[in-house]
Amino acid sequence: MSKLKKILLIIVTILVIALCLMIIKDYYKNYKNVAYSKELTKQNVVKDLQSNNQIPVLMYHEIDDSKGINLMKVNKEAFKQQMKYLKDNKYNTLTIDEFYDCIVNNKKVPSKSVLITFDDGYEDDYKNVYPILKKYNFHATMFIITGYLDKGTVYLKSNEVKEMSDNGIDIEGHTVSHPYLDKLTYNNQLKQLEESKIKLENVCKKTVRFIAYPYGAYNKDTINAEKKLGYIMGFTTNGKWANLSKGVYALNRIYIFPQYDLNNFKERLDNPNYSQVVHPIKSIEALYYSVRSWY
Ligand SMILES: [Zn+2]
Repeated sequence: MSKLKKILLIIVTILVIALCLMIIKDYYKNYKNVAYSKELTKQNVVKDLQSNNQIPVLMYHEIDDSKGINLMKVNKEAFKQQMKYLKDNKYNTLTIDEFYDCIVNNKKVPSKSVLITFDDGYEDDYKNVYPILKKYNFHATMFIITGYLDKGTVYLKSNEVKEMSDNGIDIEGHTVSHPYLDKLTYNNQLKQLEESKIKLENVCKKTVRFIAYPYGAYNKDTINAEKKLGYIMGFTTNGKWANLSKGVYALNRIYIFPQYDLNNFKERLDNPNYSQVVHPIKSIEALYYSVRSWY
């Protein structure tokens, strides 16, 4: 073999080896991509299944017949009617843990399931709401502002909270002083979330793992603080049915305003995309608290 032929053979061999290496590398890269996309598809399917679990979460504040400025006060008779409607139509009222298991762990619940919630911790939760819930054997969740607990006649007493907690009502967090959390530093948010959690756990002797944000306001720091403290789910005031579309720390709730009649109420229970009446929700709530702070 001439010297030239030998050199050509070496070059061709090197080229063949290089080509083989490129093919192997490409194949491996492809294989990894396919495996990755398979994994991704699997995750998406799980996420979609979870997102399909939608539940109406009713949000109440005060339930009282007394007069005075309160734009979110549902009168007792209307509330009674609404609860009777749930009973007569065989709705299943969830505990907060059952709700979590359905939304996050995909656990099956009866199709007519609902989570009933009350914000702030008013005295009428005990005086007006609790007897009706007891009568129908209903579960509900109350989000309590701990800084107002045992203060004056408008808000709940610790012993009332404990009694309700011992009898099927879940007691969860709503901060210490009802601030706009998204306006606070991370450390101040942490303080609000931690102090209120400890207070409620001392009163009820149960772990507090859920929170409703005052005015529905939260940001990334809120979620980081929640994760650090062991809160596993957060509720906003954004309307529509609750699902995981915006994550486990941004669950929707449905305002039940005093002006709603039974048809408005039914629509919100029947239809995840119920017609959204335009309410200046945040300004109503802000006005309400500024008036409230006067007495
Ligand atoms: Zn509130």
